[in-house]
Amino acid sequence: MAISEFGLIQQYFSKPLNNDKVNQLGVGDDCALISVPDGCQLAITTDTMVEGVHFFAGADPKQLGHKLLAVNLSDLAAMGAEPVSIMLALTLPEPDEDWIKLFAEGLLGLAEQYSIDLIGGDTTSGSLTLTVQALGLVAKKQAMLRSDAKVGDLIYVTGYLGNAGLGLKVELGYHCSESENALAQFHQPMPRVKEGLEIQKYANACIDLSDGIASDLKHILEKSNVGAELDWNKIPLSKQVREYIKVTGDWQMPLAAGDDYELCFTVNPDKADLINIDCTQIGVIEANAGLRIQRLGVIEELEVSGFEHFC
Ligand code: ADP
Ligand code: MG
Repeated sequence: MAISEFGLIQQYFSKPLNNDKVNQLGVGDDCALISVPDGCQLAITTDTMVEGVHFFAGADPKQLGHKLLAVNLSDLAAMGAEPVSIMLALTLPEPDEDWIKLFAEGLLGLAEQYSIDLIGGDTTSGSLTLTVQALGLVAKKQAMLRSDAKVGDLIYVTGYLGNAGLGLKVELGYHCSESENALAQFHQPMPRVKEGLEIQKYANACIDLSDGIASDLKHILEKSNVGAELDWNKIPLSKQVREYIKVTGDWQMPLAAGDDYELCFTVNPDKADLINIDCTQIGVIEANAGLRIQRLGVIEELEVSGFEHFC
C-alpha cells in the first residue's frame, strides 16, 4: 500500500531539533516557532526547482535534495546570514518511497553539516516541484545588500566561474575529459556559507552567482547606481573550462552560464588586507553605468545575459 501523506512526513521529515535555542517548535503543529536572538535579524529566502525546468526528468533524487538546499543556503551566504532552519514544500506525482528516502538523505545530509533544522513544510500531489524556504540569522544592519557597492570597490569572486555551465554541457552531450568537477559543481554545488559569514565583516555588496556573473553582477550595479569593469585575464577558470574555450571559442560561457553558486562581492580597497577567504579579484566598481570587460587589449560592453524564466 502507498504511504500516506502523514506517514511520509513522519517517516522522512520529522527529526529532533538540533538548534533548539532558535527553533522552538518544529514539524507537527500548524506552524513552527522560532525565537530570534536579541541583536539579530531573520534573513528569509525561498527557491523552487521544477522538473523539466531546473532539472531533467529522472534526475538523481539525492543530488536534487542536496542542490535544492544548496541553492537556498547560497542566498543566505550572499547576505552574510547563518542558516538555522528550513521549510520544505514537496509536490510529488506519487509517493515513491525509494525516491523520497534518497531525496531526504541528500537534503538532510547537507542540513546536518550546518546544524540546520527542518521545521515544517507542505506535502501535495502534482507535477514534481521542490521548494525550500531557508531562514538565517544576521546581526542587525550587517547583512550585505546588493545596493551597497561603492565607486572604487574591488570586485571579487570565490571559486571558479563556468564549471557548472560546463557540467550542464557535458550532461547535454559535450565531451570533455576529467569532467568530474564540472559535473559536481552542476549537480552538487557547495554553498559558500562560511565565506559569506567571513566577508560580511568587511565586504560592501554581495550576490550569489545563480544566473551567471554577467547577469548577477548587473543586479549589484543597478541597485548601487554604479558600473564596473572586469579584467578577462583575472577571471578564475578551471583547466576544463579553459580547454572548452580553446576548443569552441565560446569565451563568454563562464560569464553567462548559471548554477555556479559562488559569491561575487565588493570590498573597499582600504579593507582588502582583511580578506581571509580564497577568492580572486576580477574587476573594479566605476561611476560609469554598465558592465564592461577588458579583453585582448580592448574594453567592450559585456552584453551576455543569464538564464531568465518567461523569455
Ligand atoms: P496544515 O494542514 O495545518 O498546514 P499539514 O497537514 O500540511 O499541516 O502538515 C502537518 C505538519 O507537517 C506541519 O507541521 C507541517 O509543517 C509539516 N510538514 C508537512 N509537509 C512537510 C514536509 N514535506 N517536510 C517537513 N514538514 C512537513
Ligand atoms: Mg493547520
